[in-house]
Amino acid sequence: MKKYNFSAGPAILPASVLKEAAKGVVNYQGSGLGLIELSHRGSEFSAVIEEATALMRELLELPDGYHVLWMTGGASSQFFMIPMNLLNPDETAVYIDTGTWANKAIKEAKAFGNIEVAASSKADNYNHIPKGVRISAKAKYLHITSNNTIFGTQYQRFPKSPIPVVCDMSSDMLSRPVDVRPFGLIYAGAQKNLGPAGVTTVIVREDMLGTVSRHLPSMLDYRTFSTNDSMYNTPPVFPIYVTMLTLRWLKKLGGTKAIQRRNKAKAKLLYQEIDANPMFLGTAAREDRSLMNACFVMAKGYESLEAEFLKETKENGLIGLKGHRSVGGFRASIYNAMPKKGVEALCELMRDFAVRKG
Ligand SMILES: *Cc1c(COP(=O)(O)O)cnc(C)c1O
Repeated sequence: MKKYNFSAGPAILPASVLKEAAKGVVNYQGSGLGLIELSHRGSEFSAVIEEATALMRELLELPDGYHVLWMTGGASSQFFMIPMNLLNPDETAVYIDTGTWANKAIKEAKAFGNIEVAASSKADNYNHIPKGVRISAKAKYLHITSNNTIFGTQYQRFPKSPIPVVCDMSSDMLSRPVDVRPFGLIYAGAQKNLGPAGVTTVIVREDMLGTVSRHLPSMLDYRTFSTNDSMYNTPPVFPIYVTMLTLRWLKKLGGTKAIQRRNKAKAKLLYQEIDANPMFLGTAAREDRSLMNACFVMAKGYESLEAEFLKETKENGLIGLKGHRSVGGFRASIYNAMPKKGVEALCELMRDFAVRKG
């Protein structure tokens, strides 16, 4: 049976990328050696990281002045690295609290400077994105989370900000065109939309760096990565390789405009089914619904059928649909690599289930 992976992360990757990556692990381009046993300073891997960086630049349409860094420690390490590198103890940074990940970023940042939480949707269990937030021009940066993986909300328009925006794009990186110019720093763990776990992409504008007075250990200083092309130490060669293959796939598909069209079509199908089907209920505010993670629960009166529906999804090859414990119900992660057929299969099961159990 064809299986579709709806997991939130590590998540689905294009089948062609997995196939090629598997070949490269055993015998890279006919060299007789696997890519992950070759020196990271050798010509083979150098070509891989250079292509990954060039593709990232091209797909994001990065202007001059931005660095592409390949780091480790997950998006979670960026929660402390950002304030550590960008914020002095007497300076203020503004954060918008839109979910679990934003909240964790706030918690870590408090150790490094003054943190102002300008808005939060916590009281509504993060079911929407706060709008019309006034951002102080005196603060150093504004931190936002573009897609809230756990609660299924996403900024459809980024807030206007008089200061550089720092953005966690872990779960919607390269899922749509983004004008990067308001952003001083963008970061994303690879395992949601780019590749395997183990590499974190950081896009940082040169003028953001070198303004803090504290001592930064080499491996926690963005400049170590920007001045050494992310090769100061051994980079995570395999995750970078697979990410490069995914970026090639995305470029061939037509880049961010083309993938946005596909992502919109998939999300539309799924949300239409959630709205039309009397047995299911979407949990996020309509205008903030995520094109990447759709959260829904059993509608009133049908709660007792939750376990049964989840069991049927598995029996039908639809994997990873159990919702995060903070929302309950179901979460369908429909990242770039999820084919429309997968979403159609899920909608069909939902329809069929409602007819049989209604
Ligand atoms: C998954 C996720 C993280 C955490 O990523 P790690 O790489 O596991 O540290 C942070 N932010 C968002 C938006 C996420 O989806």
